[in-house]
Amino acid sequence: MTPRRPHIAIIGAGIGGLTAAACLRRIGIDVRIYEQARGFTRLGAGIQQAPNSIRVLYALGLKDKLLARAFQPETNDSRDYDTGKLTNSLSLGQSVLDRHGVPYFLMHRGDLHAMLANLVPADIIRQNHKLAGLEHRPDRSVRMTFTNGETADADAVIGADGVHSVVREFMLGKEQPRFSGRVAYRTVFPTSLLGGMTPDPCVKWWGPDRHIVSYYVNPRRDELYFVTSTPEPAFNVESWSAKGDLVTLRAAYADFHPRVRAILTACPEVHKWALVERDPLPTWVEGNVALLGDACHPMTPYMAQGASTSIEDGAILSRCLDGVDRDGLHDALRRYEATRKPRTSRIQQTSARNTWLKEPHDADWVYDYDAWSVPLAC
Ligand SMILES: Cc1cc2nc3c(=O)[nH]c(=O)nc-3n(C[C@H](O)[C@H](O)[C@H](O)COP(=O)(O)OP(=O)(O)OC[C@H]3O[C@@H](n4cnc5c(N)ncnc54)[C@H](O)[C@@H]3O)c2cc1C
Repeated sequence: MTPRRPHIAIIGAGIGGLTAAACLRRIGIDVRIYEQARGFTRLGAGIQQAPNSIRVLYALGLKDKLLARAFQPETNDSRDYDTGKLTNSLSLGQSVLDRHGVPYFLMHRGDLHAMLANLVPADIIRQNHKLAGLEHRPDRSVRMTFTNGETADADAVIGADGVHSVVREFMLGKEQPRFSGRVAYRTVFPTSLLGGMTPDPCVKWWGPDRHIVSYYVNPRRDELYFVTSTPEPAFNVESWSAKGDLVTLRAAYADFHPRVRAILTACPEVHKWALVERDPLPTWVEGNVALLGDACHPMTPYMAQGASTSIEDGAILSRCLDGVDRDGLHDALRRYEATRKPRTSRIQQTSARNTWLKEPHDADWVYDYDAWSVPLAC
């Protein structure tokens, strides 16, 4: 008798969970996604995607959509906060294509999320399903309990439920992520509000204890995104929807270059997000349950690699599970962890230092990674 293909449940329909679902379906695995939200909202944020994640997204069939909707900068610049002096300029555009074979994209986060959601049938995403409990069954399957009172069983569960992961908590106990003492103010707004000022296409302005990054999020250059890292040790609310105070934000950047101040003066509203992180976890796997994305390797956003590494996770997970029957699931999940953890731990630790690209240095170890061909751990 042919062994039954495993049925996999994914908790969380974020960028990591959706990518994992698309990668698993690509190899014929039956997947369900359980998401706590009742619907998806288009959040006002940009996202950078480097060649390491673009290789995964291209293999999933997103090349044409990315080329049509995302912005491809010629350079990624670093500038002194007050004089505007260029301290580094990483060549992108054609040179990133020549060097890495795929582009470097800047886009609206909502566009990326929608592209990924469209890769999977809508009926495999169960919204309004907030995970409340997990139970390992004697036959090694896993029973999930949701706050809406429903239960569901799966042969394996992937916790892609973000930095406050409930799945992580079941595995390793309750522990809040570490607040960095810094907040990100961020928003996307029409460039028409800039009153004729032409912003840098992709730039990070480095101040002594704070910075601001801004870039276009589409090829039309009609929307600009900015995100800051601003010291505010008293703030500790992590929410996509916390509104930021524009007066406070503008005051925090009052001694920055006039081009920065023009952006902050023009933006009509801003959201505020506490920046949190964790050290690498002791394990990502228990029985037939494993973690993915921010659930297991949350990081500061200073290398723009949190979502990118979550996307890599999905590709590696699918390679480890390819051809595996129910009895082989635990070993395959361990292999996934062993393949991924050295890389994500290194990126978490590098990102925490917040020196990435301030001055010229080697970015190839991050961008050259090809999740479809790197050797899997034994
Ligand atoms: C300011 C800032 C800027 C960033 N910029 C970049 C960038 O430019 N490039 C980049 O690659 N990364 C960036 N990141 C990082 C990136 O946002 C994250 O790494 C990425 O979103 C992680 O994806 P995820 O799917 O693991 O988690 P999430 O996006 O957090 O998704 C988790 C999902 O799980 C759901 N969920 C949570 N709990 C439950 C539950 N109990 N039951 C069911 N569902 C649940 C949530 O509703 C959500 O849909 C940035 C982060 C920040 C804070």
